[in-house]
Amino acid sequence: MSHHIVILGSGFAACTAVKTLRKQGFQGDISLVAPRPELFYFPSLIWVPSGQRKYEDLAVPLHRFLEKNRVEYIQSSVTGLLAEEKTVVLEDDKTLSYDAVIIATGGRYIRKLPGIENACIACSGWQDTKAFSDKLAAMNEGTIAFGFAGNPKEPSAMRGGPVFEFLFGVDTLLRKQGRRDKFKLVFFSPAPTPGKRLGEKAVDRLLGEMKKRDIQTYLGKKMKSFSDSAVETEGAKFDADLILFIPGMTGPAWAANSGLTLSEGGFFQANEFCQVEGQDHVFVAGDAGSFPGPEWKPKQAHMADLQAEAAAKNALEAIQFKPPAHRFKTELICIVDTLSNASMVYRDPKRSFMLKMPPLHWAKVMFEKVYLKEYR
Ligand SMILES: Cc1cc2nc3c(=O)[nH]c(=O)nc-3n(C[C@H](O)[C@H](O)[C@H](O)COP(=O)(O)OP(=O)(O)OC[C@H]3O[C@@H](n4cnc5c(N)ncnc54)[C@H](O)[C@@H]3O)c2cc1C
Repeated sequence: MSHHIVILGSGFAACTAVKTLRKQGFQGDISLVAPRPELFYFPSLIWVPSGQRKYEDLAVPLHRFLEKNRVEYIQSSVTGLLAEEKTVVLEDDKTLSYDAVIIATGGRYIRKLPGIENACIACSGWQDTKAFSDKLAAMNEGTIAFGFAGNPKEPSAMRGGPVFEFLFGVDTLLRKQGRRDKFKLVFFSPAPTPGKRLGEKAVDRLLGEMKKRDIQTYLGKKMKSFSDSAVETEGAKFDADLILFIPGMTGPAWAANSGLTLSEGGFFQANEFCQVEGQDHVFVAGDAGSFPGPEWKPKQAHMADLQAEAAAKNALEAIQFKPPAHRFKTELICIVDTLSNASMVYRDPKRSFMLKMPPLHWAKVMFEKVYLKEYR
């Protein structure tokens, strides 16, 4: 009898799950459910303000990859899951049964702060980042504020690295354009030591870099609101003609209807085998899940890939009614790019270090090229 594995999503975790299943010799059926048959390469959004990336560079069509791996693509969104019946519910109340399912539908940004519509949530995808870039290009002078916050119910559910990259990238861009003196750049965060997950030394270096670049900071005060001309925290209110903000993250909207165990922060609660708690045949990988691990564990594409590998291997065990056996490594690898220079931060349970040198910018460019090659 041919087994059927269903993968939800078409991002980093989903594509790695497909690759892993076939690499492991799985000959059964794979269906992939996603709104669009494309992989969106979020890490290179940081190069949109400088005009170095267009939409077509980041949204990679997956037709060839799916065909090569004999994957049935179902254009839809998952809306629920009936674990007892091993069935996922899709739009228009359609259903799809599975022997094992891998959830890889990513996370969401919390948009609760008053006036949040005045901020560009650059990480949410192409449109917000393009809107930010167009406004920046049209401005002659003013204050640009950059910030990020977390999910108080789940401290690891935050995305700070890209904000540093947008901030330093815009500073470099304005200098290259000879108009940095017309702008004031501001960085804000409710955390007193933003970027702490990257390690203590990294925080000092990042804040030192801001000082060197004449970037004013507002740290350690809870966020209150945004308007079309200001940011307000519990400690200060400051002008902002353009705001780039990355809120804390939570799980995907459909999680609430899934009947599955969720973490306090709203993510699918996984065990060390990427199995959703209490479910033998339901797995999760990437930003959609809450995983055990150190407090600095990152929500990154790299972790999504490592988790997807473990989830896919354990899904293969599950369809043979064997217990899961594959764990994933927790590792933080991050190249913080500034357009002209870059720093690499590495952290695992045993080590942590930071390197700074211009070739790392080109390493980041090269990595994108190599990573996307097999999907193009
Ligand atoms: C600006 C930026 C820079 C970054 N830089 C880095 C970096 O340098 N290094 C790094 O490792 N990470 C980086 N990240 C983080 C990385 O992009 C994410 O951690 C990664 O995208 C998570 O992968 P994922 O597969 O879990 O989710 P996603 O990539 O978000 O994919 C989710 C998929 O699920 C689909 N989907 C959503 N809802 C549904 C539904 N209901 N039904 C079906 N499908 C659905 C989506 O269409 C998408 O295909 C960066 C992120 C941003 C935004």
